[in-house]
Amino acid sequence: MEETPTKSLNFIEQFIEEDLENGSYSHLHTRFPPEPNGYLHIGHSKSICLNFGLAKKYGGKCNLRFDDTNPSKENVEYVESIKEDIRWLGFEWDNLQHASDYFDQLYEFAVNLIKEGKAYVCELTPEEMAEHRGVPTSPGKESPFRNRSVEENLDLFERMKNGEFPNGSKTLRAKIDMTSPNMHLRDPVIYRIQKSHHYRTGDKWCIYPMYDMAHGTGDSIEGITHSICTLEFEVHRPLYEWLNNSIWPEKKGLPRQIEFARLNLNYTIMSKRKLLELVQEGHVSGWDDPRMPTISALRRRGYTPESIRNFCERVGVAKREHVLDVSLLEFSVREHLNKVSERRMAVLNPLKVVITNYPENQEEELEAINNPEDESAGKRKISFSREIFIERSDFMEDPPKKFFRLGPGREVRLRYAYYITCEETIKNENGEIIELRCTYDPETKGGQAPDGRKVKGTLHWVSASHAVEADVRLYDRLFRDENPAGKEDFKDSLNPDSIKILQRCKLEPSLKSAKAGARFQFERLGYFCVDKDSSEEKLIFNRTVTLRDTWAKIAAKQ
Ligand code: ATP
Ligand code: MG
Repeated sequence: MEETPTKSLNFIEQFIEEDLENGSYSHLHTRFPPEPNGYLHIGHSKSICLNFGLAKKYGGKCNLRFDDTNPSKENVEYVESIKEDIRWLGFEWDNLQHASDYFDQLYEFAVNLIKEGKAYVCELTPEEMAEHRGVPTSPGKESPFRNRSVEENLDLFERMKNGEFPNGSKTLRAKIDMTSPNMHLRDPVIYRIQKSHHYRTGDKWCIYPMYDMAHGTGDSIEGITHSICTLEFEVHRPLYEWLNNSIWPEKKGLPRQIEFARLNLNYTIMSKRKLLELVQEGHVSGWDDPRMPTISALRRRGYTPESIRNFCERVGVAKREHVLDVSLLEFSVREHLNKVSERRMAVLNPLKVVITNYPENQEEELEAINNPEDESAGKRKISFSREIFIERSDFMEDPPKKFFRLGPGREVRLRYAYYITCEETIKNENGEIIELRCTYDPETKGGQAPDGRKVKGTLHWVSASHAVEADVRLYDRLFRDENPAGKEDFKDSLNPDSIKILQRCKLEPSLKSAKAGARFQFERLGYFCVDKDSSEEKLIFNRTVTLRDTWAKIAAKQ
């Protein structure tokens, strides 16, 4: 899985290199074309890494183009979030464009298609149109409006533009071939009436180009050489080419469309429409709820841009659809955070330990290593005192043989500190353990016994009087099923235990001033990140990922 410098080219790179070598294109120019109708998700990051990555690799350019042809669903919040996410992933566009920049030009193109007898105004209802279009195995029926005169078409199209007709009453269709086995060539709609306010062009337009009309022409206008998109557009390619060739019959170097397989992850929904539903119905706190598969949610949860880029690199570019295991994404973030995040001690479910032979009012500072993977991260001081907290799960009153942590009469090491032995358990009236009384061996400072005696367990801990408190949010998968989209209602698959909030967790005091977004490994527990809602008065951490893949263990048991 390691990257090697001699890595072979993927099929898109092969196409590009051929095209550059044989002179079909003198340079590479790609684009990333999101519709601003939602936040970007992890699937989009694949397309971003690919388009921006190829431009970088071949010394070319990559545009960001907002495909904003559907005014009723688009807005500026989405535009801004998309820009932020792309930059956060580490990319910068060469040109910032909008399909709406080209509305005037596109209107002219449509008028020219009409003049050439290649487009007509149709008045079939959507149902009638579908019926006329038929099925791929037999030819469709021509629209009764197909053979209108150019003059009549020009007049009607202009009146469509002027707002004379209600939504849906008329469309402009390309006149291609109602018998084509490719349904997209059976006189596709290229303009529709939609009386909605557009976030950029306001109320100037009440007709809007359809995706195919706007997309290929946008590519050509911007001089895109390779228009890389996902496989569902393969069947659109003949239309993409028909439109470009009809509009620019003389032009050389029209863009080439290349399709690759979408990124799919199990236990994950990747449709903006469905993600919007989760937000609007309050199943999550917002687009950046750390359980969401959006880039903003992954960022808030503690993912690094590097881990997402590495993930996309590792996944590679495929020609066939498949579903990846979400644990691969988790693996990538774990791998990167292991290298870069500083270690801290934090106790999530605290149990108090009193070290009875440690002098009252004494405290000392011990040295702790910030990151064993990175010497330059240095060391820090941690305070030790008579009363500490350990994790409740690190003590068992009646431990089984393989339990190497604390139990009555057992000795363990406190990380960076001393060996302690449990002498007594204190219980409340319900029989619950509320405190342990232990003794420590002053000779074992730093975690070694001079007599060479060994202990099997090393526990993390936090000094009680020094600890700061925090809420820690533990996340699990948002969906219980591998393929939530395959359910009749994907929301039936929501995991009711996808979030658990632990309160009054005890943390090393150095974490008090950690800023939103700061990432740490809490020793033995996982990777955690300061949430954006956190403040010095109320610290909040998100668990990014556990240290190991807990789902793999569950799967292995089944
Ligand atoms: P969704 O279906 O999630 O709403 P979309 O395809 O409608 O996604 P766009 O905004 O049109 O979203 O996508 C912008 C670009 O990102 C397109 O080129 C699209 O092909 C690509 N893209 C979207 N989803 C994925 C994915 N899962 N894997 C790879 N590329 C994707
Ligand atoms: Mg789309």
